[in-house]
Formats: sequence, C-alpha cells, structure tokens
Amino acid sequence: MPQIKALLELGPASAYQNDGPGFLYYPIRVAPGYQAAVEIKAGHTNDFRRRQHQYKKCKKGQDLWFVAYCETPYRMFAERLIHLRLRALGAHVDSYPCPGCGKEHREFFLLDIIGGFPEFEDVVCWAVTQAGGAYIRQNFLVES
Ligand SMILES: [Zn+2]
Repeated sequence: MPQIKALLELGPASAYQNDGPGFLYYPIRVAPGYQAAVEIKAGHTNDFRRRQHQYKKCKKGQDLWFVAYCETPYRMFAERLIHLRLRALGAHVDSYPCPGCGKEHREFFLLDIIGGFPEFEDVVCWAVTQAGGAYIRQNFLVES
C-alpha cells in the first residue's frame, strides 16, 4: 500500500503541520434502511467531550453510540493510517445525509468487512503505535 508506506516514511512528527496530541474516537451507527448495516468510524479530535456533544443530535432517526476512545500523540497521523488500512480492506462506506443532523459524516466503514470490533481495534492499536503512542482503550459506558 504505497500511501501507507509514504506516510510511515514521513513519520508522525512531519506528516501534518497541525498534528499533535488528542483523541481517536469510534462512533458506531446502524445505517437506516432494510440492510441495517453496522458502521464504525475512527475520528480524531483534541476535545473529546465537545465531539461527543456534537454527535448527540445524530441519534435522532438512527442508532448511534460511542464505544470507546483512546489518546494518541499524533491524532491526524494515526487517523489517516486507520482510514488507509480500512479503505484497503474495501470497508469504506459512501457518505450519506445523517438522519439526525443532516451532515454527511465521512469515513465510516462496514464493521462486517473489517471482521468485527477486535479487528477494528487491532488497526487502531497499530496506528497509535506507529504514531509513537501506546494504545490504551478508554471504554465509553455513559449514554445520555
Ligand atoms: Zn449527524
């Protein structure tokens, strides 16, 4: 995968100008429609609570919840690696308007094609390690 190789060669400290410490978070949603596909996203943010709040209105008209998050020293670098790996699996979902907020959330992936949450997390762990971090999952249990 040439894009992954190129990114790894650049390294986490020089790949993205505004990169730095932050969080990777993983919302799961069940896509509307008869297929009811389970989709997962790895997004990055430097303010997890704010991002969590932004997704609150997305729960209208669909099931959407956060399962976990982790910290990483280079959140953009790690997120990009994850997206490239999951795209290479053919798991990428074309974006569509969110039934809750109307926005087309990007970079959701089909969990079935990835294998399941453990396989998804293996990719996250690999990416965080490449970004110079140590993967520690923060389970996200509170829903309101
Ligand atoms: Zn939304």
